[in-house]
Amino acid sequence: MIEQSILEITSALSQSNRIVIVPHKGPDGDAIGSSLGLYHFLKEKGHETTVIAPNDFPQFLKWLPGSEEIQIYEGNKEACDRLIQDADIIFTLDFNMLERAGDMVEPLSQAEATFIMIDHHPEPSDYADHTYSDASLSSTCQMVYKFLQKLRALKYITPEIATCLYTGIMTDTGSFRYRATTGDTHRVIADLIDKGADNNTIHSNVFDSFSKNRIQLLGVALQNLHVNKDLRTAYITLSQEELDRYNFQKGDTEGFVNYGLAIEGIIFAVIFIEHKADGMIKMSLRSKGNFSVNKFARAHFNGGGHLNAAGGRSELSMEDTITKFNTILPQYKEELSL
Ligand code: 5GP
Ligand code: MN
Repeated sequence: MIEQSILEITSALSQSNRIVIVPHKGPDGDAIGSSLGLYHFLKEKGHETTVIAPNDFPQFLKWLPGSEEIQIYEGNKEACDRLIQDADIIFTLDFNMLERAGDMVEPLSQAEATFIMIDHHPEPSDYADHTYSDASLSSTCQMVYKFLQKLRALKYITPEIATCLYTGIMTDTGSFRYRATTGDTHRVIADLIDKGADNNTIHSNVFDSFSKNRIQLLGVALQNLHVNKDLRTAYITLSQEELDRYNFQKGDTEGFVNYGLAIEGIIFAVIFIEHKADGMIKMSLRSKGNFSVNKFARAHFNGGGHLNAAGGRSELSMEDTITKFNTILPQYKEELSL
């Protein structure tokens, strides 16, 4: 982020503003953690601040301080449209193109506010007045920390802010194991612990909070695992019927895709999840090493993300989606086979 932007943002934040913070649709730990971390900071500074999420977020994040204050756009459009219209500043967090805001794209496109993007996805589009984009960083939460550092505001980090930012860094780094986890990530984490993030409780709240249904749905997912040893690929399917049988709740399948990568030799893993109501199969893609699931999802499944973690979708049936996937896969033989 250029120095001029920091000066302008510092000056804008010196008066009281109406501020809206928007995470991406299908918000995850990093999207919600960064939004709430920034929310507590701005509120503390006297700004009228609201987090508006395009749709609901997983149960395992609903203990986060301030999570009960988040407005869900779906089902509350009129009130949210007014907040967006009246906003002086709109922060968009953890996404690189406006389309990722789902139904909020339209009101956001019409808003007159100053837009500030903070995001770690590659290839940001240029809708924002101030773009803080860095694809080398582990998470948007780490970026919010750095953003506060640039504003010389680290001293204002409360235990609530520290808790929210810690959570997003933890979830987006797979508990500090993915490649983007650097010494700097750990230095930020260390400071967040010093500032009141209770790491033991946070891990427990996020990872030891499965319902019985969720654990059993994981069992079904693992039974549905297919392995293509030659192309070092594994995939999992979950049908709507299987989700219904275990009373699927948002967030229940989070992390399931990683089991594919836990198999020795596998470098590309995908989970296909049927969403009948939306008429689509939602995909999560993960890889190890240099195989770009971002490129793969962009090229074939209307999605995108990062080098090693991306999402996508298909409007075909589950069967046809799998056939399409298996047909495409050999095109990547050079990258995937040993
Ligand atoms: P997940 O598989 O956990 O939903 O998402 C993995 C990564 O891919 C996240 O960084 C997420 O923001 C990104 N992602 C997920 N779905 C989509 C999508 O439909 N389009 C794009 N561009 N990125 C996505
Ligand atoms: Mn993220």
